[in-house]
Amino acid sequence: MADNTEQAQQASIEVEDMITVGTLAERLSIPVSRLIGELMKNGVMATVNERIDFDTAQIIVEELGLGLKLIKHTSDSTDTPVRTKPTASAKAKVRPPVVAVMGHVDHGKTSLLDAISGASVVKGEAGGITQHISAYQVEHNKRMITFLDTPGHEAFAAIREHGAQLTDIVMIVIAADDGIKPQTIEAIRFARKAGVKIIVAINKIDKPGTDLNHVKQQLSENDLMIEEWGGDTVILPVSAKTKEGIPALLDMILLVSDVEELKADFDGPGRGLIIEAHVEQGRGPVAQALVESGTLHPSDFIVAGSSYAKIRNLETTDGKPIKSATPSMPVVISGFKTLPEFGDEFQTVKSEKDARIQTELSTADNQASSNRMNIGSNELIRLINRDNKLQELNIIIKADVQGSLTSVIDSLRALDTDEVSVRVVGSGVGRISENDLHLAHSSRAIVYGFNVGLPSSGRQQAGRDKVSVRIYKVIYELIDDVKQELTKMLKPEIVETELGRLIVKAVFKTTKTEIICGGEVTKGKLTLPALARVLRGDKQLAEVNVTGLKRGPADAKEILEGEMCGMSLATTKRLELQEGDKVELFNRESVLRQL
Ligand code: GDP
Repeated sequence: MADNTEQAQQASIEVEDMITVGTLAERLSIPVSRLIGELMKNGVMATVNERIDFDTAQIIVEELGLGLKLIKHTSDSTDTPVRTKPTASAKAKVRPPVVAVMGHVDHGKTSLLDAISGASVVKGEAGGITQHISAYQVEHNKRMITFLDTPGHEAFAAIREHGAQLTDIVMIVIAADDGIKPQTIEAIRFARKAGVKIIVAINKIDKPGTDLNHVKQQLSENDLMIEEWGGDTVILPVSAKTKEGIPALLDMILLVSDVEELKADFDGPGRGLIIEAHVEQGRGPVAQALVESGTLHPSDFIVAGSSYAKIRNLETTDGKPIKSATPSMPVVISGFKTLPEFGDEFQTVKSEKDARIQTELSTADNQASSNRMNIGSNELIRLINRDNKLQELNIIIKADVQGSLTSVIDSLRALDTDEVSVRVVGSGVGRISENDLHLAHSSRAIVYGFNVGLPSSGRQQAGRDKVSVRIYKVIYELIDDVKQELTKMLKPEIVETELGRLIVKAVFKTTKTEIICGGEVTKGKLTLPALARVLRGDKQLAEVNVTGLKRGPADAKEILEGEMCGMSLATTKRLELQEGDKVELFNRESVLRQL
């Protein structure tokens, strides 16, 4: 009964299905930094201009305890556009499906991929988290299936989103003993946004006491109605441990892809997407790419964003040299002049000359668009706060691969508030170089390395120039470190606590530096140490230090409401206290704030 009344009294706010963090903060009338902070506490890294979905917004608003209720205003038009796949011509042939594997951390994505491929992907992950997309093909019933192993950490939302857009099918892995979690919902959202088919693998069914019905129920609560209940979501119970259900899962992937009639042109120039890039010792820039149409060969010229290559080695993702790569194949390409970027589209061109011209055009394009993009959330906050003394933390970031670098930078941007902000003065792929250290010295930046090393000459240089270099293998630890640095820059908050009030009944002594008076406590409790505001009517006469309290002739630690007492005040200028003046005692503390 009490609950109902409470609910009925809650004010409600109508919001869209997808709403930007900035707009939501505005509607809730709270500072955007508070909303971003609450989102981060819940593992969602989102900047001012990023959209969050209704379910996330609802959870966050509840957690904020504002006594507000959100109501969904449905409108699909706010979704960001999906990258379209190349259209196939009449000559198109059936191609293998591309399946992105997503789900909550520890639900068994990597183990399941291991079980499917027979490879051991689990090994070699820092902090147990897959930190960039790895892709490979497996054969089932003499047909190929391409899997993209997308990262499991919430900080890698950026990569995961790309992951969904590259794919035909999203396989969402849910641990039977844990059920739907925030990242599962996020994966469902990405898959929906990308307009791809969803297959749900309910993993760990070998564990005793697992309840499939509970997961099915949770799925239907998230608008994924399963087939046996009349919906169109396919679910398959599996165990990565015992391999039970895996052949059926692969059959289902092939069946779904047959229904989707996945086709591509195999003839003609190769086109596709860069899904990972890094510098390898002795090989230079090396990229993983997914072919979407046409065929790639060694020695082809390809342009990817503002970089180009004459393909030197064309290999499968497990390192076998190949003579051609056809649609849906993930491949490793070496021979790039510079490092292409994760998410760059690539295509074959006729000659090196064409490659160079296109690269130059693309660089010019990029510059134009990055000038526009500069007025992004970060810059905007910076511009608005120019006069508000926004504190900036200068940092340089180096990472092992482009995908991780993008994710680290995206995650750091989410830490910005309207008071403190991260300024990336330099970033790149590869180990920390002399130049990075010079730049750090001159811009007073901290150098962060993610999965990269610092040569010993660099260590000496850093020591000499007093440059702080911090290397991390787990993204959360890196982000926490930056967060701590930002927290140190926050101005402490001044908090006042009211103690009690005295009405002056008599003034015993007045000098330039001291007043001794007596009176009655009309409110609260007087204790020491304390500051006091002296008021006559509504007007404040002075703020003073309270130096002593006496009950009768004896010193007292505290005087309660209704008691009479004597009080000495330390003044800095002469103050003529009168009978009837009020003395309000309070404490003032400066409290370190948290980001
Ligand atoms: P990811 O973070 O989603 O890639 O999850 P992992 O593949 O790293 O698995 C997380 C944990 O769950 C590991 O300790 C695995 O051994 C365990 N695990 C994964 N699949 C199964 C399964 O089918 N059955 C059982 N009993 N444990 C599993």
